[in-house]
Amino acid sequence: MSRKILIVEDERDVVKLLRYNLEKEGFRVNHVSDGALVLPEVRRDMPDLVILDLMLPGMDGLEVCRQLRRNDKYAGLPVLMLTARGEEADRVVGLEIGADDYVTKPFSTRELVARVRALLRRKDLPDRPPSSLHRGQLMIDPTAHRVTMEGQTVELSALEFRLLHFLASHPGMVFSRDQLLDRVWGNDRSVTPRSVDVYVRRIRGKIEKESDQPAYVETVHGVGYRFGTAGE
Ligand code: CA
Repeated sequence: MSRKILIVEDERDVVKLLRYNLEKEGFRVNHVSDGALVLPEVRRDMPDLVILDLMLPGMDGLEVCRQLRRNDKYAGLPVLMLTARGEEADRVVGLEIGADDYVTKPFSTRELVARVRALLRRKDLPDRPPSSLHRGQLMIDPTAHRVTMEGQTVELSALEFRLLHFLASHPGMVFSRDQLLDRVWGNDRSVTPRSVDVYVRRIRGKIEKESDQPAYVETVHGVGYRFGTAGE
């Protein structure tokens, strides 16, 4: 059965573009343009995912997200935020109050569809305690906060661990330095995008056989970093 996406956006051109591309990909699409209408609509016809613009009449997107997350019934409903340039602060707040991901306008529809699919895939995974990740010779155990490489314990700082675990949890996905700051460092604004490079270098020094030819944490030039899938 095709998945249902609820678009919450008041800009008609954006809605048209989203609807066209999502329907082309086989999704069913509903739409509301007023933030205050989201909850009634979700109650009426539960979607599989919500694409939520932040600037809305009626009720702004952040408040909509907060209200969805306050309700246990909608706690697992994936929310993809649409943000504009200059809304970085809102983006961070949005992720904190429970949005799952964001796309910045103007966006590429291909990227947006890929994000939608990734969130739906994540939603399909059964809930279970975080299990250890095995990637090649690397093992990451989030419960014990332990990393081993070829069976040998690797000593990582808390932040190094979080960064490595985050990347390894999304193999093959590229993240910009800013995205990594949002996801891994969260509210700590004392760090700069360059700090990410420093941490990546330290992690590589600890887990890579050859730091200049990393097999795990790869550099994507001009974009950011990605956890490699070559070894799988
Ligand atoms: Ca809008």
